[in-house]
Formats: sequence, C-alpha cells, structure tokens
Amino acid sequence: MPTPAPLDYTDVLALLRERGLRMTPQRRAIVSEVMRTKGHIAPAAIARTIEGEMPGVNPSTVYRTIALLEEVGVLQHSHLESGAEYHKTDEAQHVHLTCHRCGRDDALSIDEAAKLGRLIHQHGGFVADLTHFAITGLCKDCAAA
Ligand SMILES: [Zn+2]
Ligand SMILES: [Zn+2]
Ligand SMILES: [Zn+2]
Repeated sequence: MPTPAPLDYTDVLALLRERGLRMTPQRRAIVSEVMRTKGHIAPAAIARTIEGEMPGVNPSTVYRTIALLEEVGVLQHSHLESGAEYHKTDEAQHVHLTCHRCGRDDALSIDEAAKLGRLIHQHGGFVADLTHFAITGLCKDCAAA
C-alpha cells in the first residue's frame, strides 16, 4: 500500500473547500489544532483545547469536523482501550498493543504484524485490517506483577 504524502493545514483547507464546506473560524481552529497534534488525536482533547481558545464552540462541532476530516481521507480512526482515536492517514499504519491494566500503548510496525496477517489469511483467505482495532492484553510489567 503506498503511503500518501503528508498534508499540511493549507492542503486540508483546500480539500474541505473543494467539498463545498464553508470554513468558519471554528472549523479553521479545529483543523489547525488537529494538524498541529502529534501522534494520536483524541477528539475529547481537541474539544478541550478548542473550548479553551474559543469559548462557546460546541463540542459536537469538533466531533463533526474530525469525522469530516476522516471522510476526506486526512484522518483514520483506531479503537484503543481508551476509545476511538485518530491518526493522520500517513501515520496510521501500525498495530496497537494496549495494556488494559495500566493503559500503556505500544505499537507493532506493519512489517512486524505481517506474519500475523499471513496467519489469519491462511484461515479462509481473510484479509485482516490489523490497524483498526487494538490488541488488548497486559504489558510486560503488568504481566510480571
Ligand atoms: Zn497509533
Ligand atoms: Zn472503527
Ligand atoms: Zn500495563
């Protein structure tokens, strides 16, 4: 799968405008905050930051804008122990290993996970999307405790 080139704030605004969306100051602030965020993007954390910067922005506007960013291919969600979080699409290709005791989140590269994908594929040709759901369990420390 070719990795898409990373997009910046201006590219994303252009993408949304192409879809005929009115870029309100709220939406701009949300897009800017999302694009500034490194690593996992938690909608609730974005909503809190935006609320701090622009009091009165409805959290549902934040959630809708993030959903829209996924629709246009900028973001991709994964289900982690803590709920759904987003990645920029070009950073999404890894498998989450989440500890259900301490919440630690580790990542398996897609190359490391390839063996697992092949194993599953032997079972009736199923093509697994291992990036979508986290594998939950115990981290090394919690398992030893
Ligand atoms: Zn991740
Ligand atoms: Zn999902
Ligand atoms: Zn743990």
